[in-house]
Amino acid sequence: MTSNYHETDVVIVGAGPCGLFAVFELGLLDLKCHLIDILDRPGGQCAELYPEKPIYDIPGCPIISGQELVDKLMEQIRPFGAEFHFGEMVSELERTETGFRVRTDANTTIACKVVVVAAGGGSFQPKRPPIPGIEEYEGKSVFYSVRRMDDFRGHDLLVVGGGDSALDWTLNLQPIANKLTLVHRRPEFRAAPDSVNKMFALNERGELTFQQGQVTGLIGEAGELKAAVVKGPDGDVEVPATRLLPFFGLTMKLGPVAEWGLNLHEELIAVDTARFESSEPGIFAIGDINWYPGKLKLILSGFHEAALMSQAAKKIVHPNQRVVFQYTTSSTSLQKKLGVA
Ligand SMILES: Cc1cc2nc3c(=O)[nH]c(=O)nc-3n(C[C@H](O)[C@H](O)[C@H](O)COP(=O)(O)OP(=O)(O)OC[C@H]3O[C@@H](n4cnc5c(N)ncnc54)[C@H](O)[C@@H]3O)c2cc1C
Repeated sequence: MTSNYHETDVVIVGAGPCGLFAVFELGLLDLKCHLIDILDRPGGQCAELYPEKPIYDIPGCPIISGQELVDKLMEQIRPFGAEFHFGEMVSELERTETGFRVRTDANTTIACKVVVVAAGGGSFQPKRPPIPGIEEYEGKSVFYSVRRMDDFRGHDLLVVGGGDSALDWTLNLQPIANKLTLVHRRPEFRAAPDSVNKMFALNERGELTFQQGQVTGLIGEAGELKAAVVKGPDGDVEVPATRLLPFFGLTMKLGPVAEWGLNLHEELIAVDTARFESSEPGIFAIGDINWYPGKLKLILSGFHEAALMSQAAKKIVHPNQRVVFQYTTSSTSLQKKLGVA
């Protein structure tokens, strides 16, 4: 056996908020987990796409940033000692006599009884705008997400796009930018009307510039951006910019999960709403990756799905053990597991 071989009760594909909370619910039922994520850290979309943005609809948390939520989830699941495999993509899933064998592109193999797909939008990749030579600037002057707002402080920022991400980051970064220009090909936006109104008000007051058009070229050297060429209704304009933030959406690629023979509904894994199990017994799907009638892609939905999935998973891993419903407030046995009794 290589050191890359592991055995566990449950493999969770994806360490986004729903995968993380699943560790908690499974842990209360004494199920051990390994989590695998392509990203180099936990948190999925919350950590990758909006770590500093406030979330207002987590029950009991009137306001919490994407990263704070991830940090709190990590703290909450600490007692259960889940093992993480970051920077690895789950590539293969094979049914065995005792359950499943999961393999990653880094040659990790994990034998388990249950698989929980919590892969969100799949292996999400930002869409690259068709600007010649943009690759040379990526990671130096061109960024597809804002991990730390402070990295953009004092820069001449060029934000491109017309959706919520483009407008939200325009409003959030405008106060700390030296100068901010928003470029969108039309004066109509897909983003929330309130954000659009706020942006136009700032434009009126000269606190940012809205430029209609499309970025067609980048000017700079060795990845250091100096300006961008914007083709607008009145021809080409050169806009000074040291950082470019294109928000053209994400490609939601289900990736290898699509090859596992699960019933899909428009690229999402169809599940039932009592167990959140896929068409393959023992393979569950929770969070943004699943579909059922009425599904809402909200973090709180994924948390609920994790709780019900765990009850079903327990019956697969320990078919002879009775699952006793208990509250964490009053059960000393659950409190012992949490290390608080
Ligand atoms: C800008 C923005 C704001 C939002 N605001 C809110 C809000 O206010 N309230 C709210 O409830 N929701 C909000 N959402 C939605 C919320 O972030 C998602 O519902 C949530 O992240 C889904 O969690 P998840 O765990 O299902 O998936 P994700 O967070 O997408 O995590 C899935 C993880 O799986 C990994 N993965 C995928 N495929 C593989 C593979 N084959 N191998 C290994 N790893 C894999 C990915 O790398 C990723 O880390 C917002 C989303 C965005 C983009």
